[in-house]
Amino acid sequence: MAKTAASIALNVVPGPTYADAAAVAAVMQPEEAVFCFSAERLKARLALFTAGFPGAVSFAVKSNPSREVVAALDEAGLTHWDVASVQEMALVHAIQPSAHFHYHNPVKSRREILNAYSRYGCRRFAVDAREEVAKIAAIVGDDRSVELAVRFVLPRDRASSAHDFSTKFGAPEHIAAGLLQDIQRRGYVPVMTFHPGSQSRDPNVYVRHIEAAHRIAKASGVQIGKLNVGGGFPASYPLSKPALLDNFFTLIAGATTRCFGKGMEPALECEPGRGLAANCMSLLTRVKLVCSDGDDIFLNDGIYGGLMEFMQAPELQPPCRVIRGGKVLEGPTKPWKVFGPTCDPLDVLPAKLDLPAGIRDEDFIEFGTLGAYGIATSTRFNGYGGHAVVPVAEVFNG
Ligand SMILES: *Cc1c(COP(=O)(O)O)cnc(C)c1O
Repeated sequence: MAKTAASIALNVVPGPTYADAAAVAAVMQPEEAVFCFSAERLKARLALFTAGFPGAVSFAVKSNPSREVVAALDEAGLTHWDVASVQEMALVHAIQPSAHFHYHNPVKSRREILNAYSRYGCRRFAVDAREEVAKIAAIVGDDRSVELAVRFVLPRDRASSAHDFSTKFGAPEHIAAGLLQDIQRRGYVPVMTFHPGSQSRDPNVYVRHIEAAHRIAKASGVQIGKLNVGGGFPASYPLSKPALLDNFFTLIAGATTRCFGKGMEPALECEPGRGLAANCMSLLTRVKLVCSDGDDIFLNDGIYGGLMEFMQAPELQPPCRVIRGGKVLEGPTKPWKVFGPTCDPLDVLPAKLDLPAGIRDEDFIEFGTLGAYGIATSTRFNGYGGHAVVPVAEVFNG
């Protein structure tokens, strides 16, 4: 691994890059669960977005706020970051001092707005309520460079994504139109944004939102220069196989031109988390106990650690494989009930896993496709969860 400016600044000791998790298991034999990270895989996925998406690409930091991921995206030239908090700005700013932030959490305290604006130079804020517009205006005053992105929401569409995003944030259409007028009247730059729901399998959900964005802009009489189509781009999981990213990009470009008119389109932006990061990390866990009389296995990580999302959305079950002696363990399988390491009876995976019948304690289990909402949502419950991030060339994705 090259000793880059970022690694010096972060005081990261450049270690070897392992071939894959099997090599990590053989050489490091990590006793605690670790995330294996392929910077090359992440950069390749970013290249797919920047080449294919018909607009500007940013990264939703909340999906994977590890320094290694931010540093790799910085190296690859990413300059815009969707952040949920001031803490995320601090993390990115330490690696990329010139970073541009989109503070797209629609609810921010006055202190957070002030910190974002004056300390991190943030000039883009999402809003879905009149009171939030007023709070921001009280802090930024007559700074006409400030962009306010109206987050709107469509009625619930449960079938199209693994995580419904419509229940917490977003203004319904008629409120959104009023917000755009308020923003224009106050002299800020009006932008629109939405989030179709995480792991959106059906690209038409973006089309419906772009049609709504056009309706809202038209009803308000406000011309919007930018439309941010959010995250929601899917990754491929064993139980959730989406359409190719290019289908999404083509439909998004087509719908924007059809709705707004050729030459009249707002500039498009996207801010993927899962779609960009899911493939770049796997979780390498170790077996602590196998109860062969039954079908119970206990691991050193679980739903309070890197596997929390599996609990919230069984559709996002990660692919897995067993590693012993630096090799993938083959042989007849059977369904195993898999427990995590904490003393909480809830700490069990929501579905049985098909694993080799001959699995033993000290074997490793690698869970793939955990680059998004894996390390991000891990807790320190019972003292676990301090995952190291180990660089690998190739990462398992089933
Ligand atoms: C969570 C979030 C994202 C990223 O969503 P993914 O489904 O991971 O792509 C993007 N934008 C906003 C505002 C979000 O809250």
